[in-house]
Amino acid sequence: MKVELTGMDGGMVDISPEVFQSLKTVFRGPVLTPDDAPYEELRKVWNAMIDRRPGLIVRCTGTADVVQAVRFAREHRVLVSVRSGGHNIAGLAVCEGGLMIDMSLLRGVWVDPVQRVARAQAGCTLGDVDRETQLHGLAAVLGFVSATGIAGLTVGGGFGYLTRRHGWTCDTVLAMEVVTSDGKVLRASAGENSDLYWALRGGGGNFGIVTSFEYRLFPVGPEILGGAIAWRGEDAKQVFDAYRELTDGAPRELTSVAVLRIAPPAPWLPKEVHGKPIAAIFVCHSGDTEEGEVLLSRLRKVGQPVADIVTRRPYTQMQSLLDATQPKGRRYYWKSHYLAGVSPEAIEIAIAHAGRIRSPHSAIIFFQIQGALNELPADHSPAGNRDAAYVINITASWEKPDDDDINVRWAQDCFEATRSYSTGGTYINFLTEEEGADRIEAAYGRSILQRLAALKRKYDPDDFFRHTKRVSVTLPATPAPCPTTA
Ligand SMILES: Cc1cc2nc3c(=O)[nH]c(=O)nc-3n(C[C@H](O)[C@H](O)[C@H](O)COP(=O)(O)OP(=O)(O)OC[C@H]3O[C@@H](n4cnc5c(N)ncnc54)[C@H](O)[C@@H]3O)c2cc1C
Repeated sequence: MKVELTGMDGGMVDISPEVFQSLKTVFRGPVLTPDDAPYEELRKVWNAMIDRRPGLIVRCTGTADVVQAVRFAREHRVLVSVRSGGHNIAGLAVCEGGLMIDMSLLRGVWVDPVQRVARAQAGCTLGDVDRETQLHGLAAVLGFVSATGIAGLTVGGGFGYLTRRHGWTCDTVLAMEVVTSDGKVLRASAGENSDLYWALRGGGGNFGIVTSFEYRLFPVGPEILGGAIAWRGEDAKQVFDAYRELTDGAPRELTSVAVLRIAPPAPWLPKEVHGKPIAAIFVCHSGDTEEGEVLLSRLRKVGQPVADIVTRRPYTQMQSLLDATQPKGRRYYWKSHYLAGVSPEAIEIAIAHAGRIRSPHSAIIFFQIQGALNELPADHSPAGNRDAAYVINITASWEKPDDDDINVRWAQDCFEATRSYSTGGTYINFLTEEEGADRIEAAYGRSILQRLAALKRKYDPDDFFRHTKRVSVTLPATPAPCPTTA
C-alpha cells in the first residue's frame, strides 16, 4: 500500500508500496496505518485538546526497532514524534501526518538491590518502576501520578515526593541508552558521551530517543506515612497559613502538596462537601513514622478538617493517590511557575481565583520541592532552576470543547495574577502547546539554553527531533563583553 507522510519541511512525502513493505520487513513490532484497529486508541494522548493524526505509528519492541524507525524517517525526511507515556500536556508525543515512534511496549524494569540501581525501559510508567523497586524497599525519584511516562518526565527534569531529599529525577539518572538522529546507539553517562548525558537530563526530547534509563534508588518504605487532609473552602486561608508554617523548615522527608478545588465525589470526602470548594493538603513523610506523626499533628488541629486519610500506607499506594483526578481523555490546560516561597499575598490571589473556578475538575496546586535540588550547582543539569522552592500549577480540566475558552481564560488569568511572585522560571514539562521560545528560555535560562543549543548542533544538526519544546530557537546575539578600562 502507498502511504503519504508529512515531511520534515512540512510538505508531503510519498512512500511507495515497496518501501512501506520493506519497513514492515525490517521492523519487528507492529507498523500501523490509520486503517488498523489499534491506531485510533494509540494516536490519542492524555490531553483530549490534542487531536492529531500521524500518518504511521511504529510500535518499537526493542532498540533495534528504534534504530530502524530513525533510519527510515531520516532516509525519507519524514517528520517524527516520540511517544512514551503520552502524558505531555502539549501533546508532543503525536505529530500531524508524520511518523509516531511509539515506545509504550517497552516496559521492562530490572532492579539491582545491592547497587541500588534500576534500569527501566523508556515505555514504563512511573507505576511500573515503583512496583519493581518497592519489592526491595527502594524507590527512584519519580512524579505524583502513576500513569505518567518515565521518559518524558525524566528528560524534562521530573519531581515528586522524593525530590526534596534527592533533587530532580534527572539528577538521579546514572546512565541512558540513546538512539541519536543518525541512528547510532550510544550510552550516555558521566564517563561516556558526558555532554549528551548532561543534555538529556532536562533538555527534553531534542537530542535522541532514550531506550532505557538507569536510576539511582533510595531506601523508601515500603510503608510511609501519607495521605490527605481536607477542609471546607471557607477555611482556605487558615489552611494555607498552616501550609506555609508546615513547609517552612520541614524536614526533607516530608513533602506536601496544597490544592484548591471543588470537591469531587470521591469516597474519602463526605457527601456534604461534594461539589463544594475545598482546600486539601496531600502529604508524604518517607522518614521515621513517629516523627512524621508529630509534624502532622499540628496540621490536623487546624480548623475543622472534613476528611483525614493520613495513615501508614504502602508507598506505591501513595504514588497513585492522585491518579483518579487526572484521567486520560479529558480536556486539559495548565499554566505554571516556580516560586521562591509561598507569600500570604500569592496565596490570597490563588484563593480568590479558586473562587472563580469554571470546572469541577480544575485545581490550583502548590508543590513544595525545596531541598536537595537547591544545593546542586546551577548548571549541574539543564533542569536547573536551583532557586525554585515551590511549583504552582494552575490546572484547568473540563469535558466539552464548548467550554474551552472559559477554562483556558481562567487558568491564564490566575497565571497572570500570580506572575510577579514567580522566580521567572517555569517547568519545561508543564508548558502547553502554544508556549514558545520565551517560555522555553524561562524554563532553562539563557546560559543553559545556549549550551543546549550548541549540543543540539552537535547531536542533531538537522533538527530531526523537532516535534518537542525546541532548544534550537534563535537566540538574540550575546552582547559583546564591555571593554575593561585600566
Ligand atoms: C497527569 C500528569 C501528572 C504529572 N505529574 C508530574 C509529576 O508529578 N512530576 C513531573 O515532573 N511531571 C509530571 N507531569 C508532567 C510530565 O513530566 C510530562 O507530561 C512528561 O512529558 C510525561 O512523559 P511521557 O513519557 O508520558 O511523555 P510523552 O507525551 O510520551 O512524550 C513527551 C515528549 O517527551 C519526549 N520523550 C518522550 N519519550 C522519550 C524518549 N524515550 N526519549 C527521549 N525523549 C522522549 C519527547 O520530546 C516527547 O515528545 C505530569 C503530567 C501529567 C499529564
